[in-house]
Amino acid sequence: MAEDTQSTITYGIFNETTEHEARVALTPDIVKRLKRSSITCMVETGAGSAAGYADEDYAAAGARVSDAETIINRAQAFGFVDRPSGDLIDRLPKGSWVIGMLGSFTDEEYVNRLERNGLVGVAIERLPRQLSSAQSMDEMTSQNSVMGYKAVLKAADAYGSFFPMMTTAAGTIRPAKVLVLGAGIAGLQAIGTARRLGAVVTAYDVRPAAKNEVLSLGAKFLELGLDFSKGQGEGGYARQLTAEEQAAQQAAVDGKAAEFDVVITTAKVPGRKPPMLLTKAGVDGLHRGAVIVDCAASDLGGNVEGSQPNQTIVTDNGVRIIGAPDLASGVATTASNLLARNVADVLAHFVHDGSLVMDPNEELDDALIVAGRVNTPAAKEEEK
Ligand code: NAD
Repeated sequence: MAEDTQSTITYGIFNETTEHEARVALTPDIVKRLKRSSITCMVETGAGSAAGYADEDYAAAGARVSDAETIINRAQAFGFVDRPSGDLIDRLPKGSWVIGMLGSFTDEEYVNRLERNGLVGVAIERLPRQLSSAQSMDEMTSQNSVMGYKAVLKAADAYGSFFPMMTTAAGTIRPAKVLVLGAGIAGLQAIGTARRLGAVVTAYDVRPAAKNEVLSLGAKFLELGLDFSKGQGEGGYARQLTAEEQAAQQAAVDGKAAEFDVVITTAKVPGRKPPMLLTKAGVDGLHRGAVIVDCAASDLGGNVEGSQPNQTIVTDNGVRIIGAPDLASGVATTASNLLARNVADVLAHFVHDGSLVMDPNEELDDALIVAGRVNTPAAKEEEK
């Protein structure tokens, strides 16, 4: 993080208003870190309490704890776990900077509203994650890792048997067979966690590069007999499959899933509806008592047919489908600390000589949403 003793930027944090959200975008550790860069922090009363950070902790670290209105009037930049509500963006002064997961790939109206209000948005979902300078800003990596860990704990808790093999006087219990679909950041963490609990783990990903990573963690790779040698898209991420490819994949996954006790799905394609990997036929093939945790469950759909965000559904054949998009929030203390560091590093990147400036080296240009700039989604459309 750049040292800038002249800086007079004030950075404001509010209570997160999204349902099921316990995380906070700033923690006392990061207040101290930003203070070393002469960035002053203001935190809304109670903003950290659900994550285990008290107002006194923030004050002791050097932040000003205040009400939302005072923060709106004093700060020039605002950080969020998710994104500010429409009402809040209407109250922020023109020229303010808003840093968060702004949903810019899927919510054009929201982006237009930011632009109309003359705000500068930094959309974390658009950060070029492969850049080494952006690694410490990558909220998706830090939070997906927490999510993968928690998904396994959630599954183990809901499953009616043990994950490890157990030999008891009353007999030997076989280890749980866990299938992880999507072996990116979350999936690899899920594999490691399930293995540490003693389960026998198999995993699958459409990116050919994922196979070696799966094997190196001691899991098996699920061979579907399909050729997705071009399954990797731009920037190392999965590309969206064609309708035919997706149908073939679904049929193959559905057929194999019946062998497993627990299925954890983490497959996403950035900025798009998550691919459906397990259809009703696959769910119907699972045995009574099997557990599915769908980390991709969202209002846009999930990886599992019938999953609903933040709901547990028990199917007619006794399979439990847990729609769990907010798992990182369940490890709120540490997840917040990691996330706060990510967001603070984004902020610090744009602070130069005591002011917030548009990316001078254009490294993070694609993440900026500013009316009238060529890199905004609206301006890019106009350019076409
Ligand atoms: P993600 O959350 O977008 O997706 C999760 C996983 O689901 C990915 O591995 C993806 O390939 C997989 N997936 C998507 N569609 C699928 C389908 N139809 N079937 C099966 N699997 C499917 O991705 P992520 O976990 O954030 O990252 C994915 C890759 O990007 C990883 O290789 C990761 O190491 C890499 N990455 C690199 C950097 C970097 O260079 N700094 C940073 C972050 C991630």
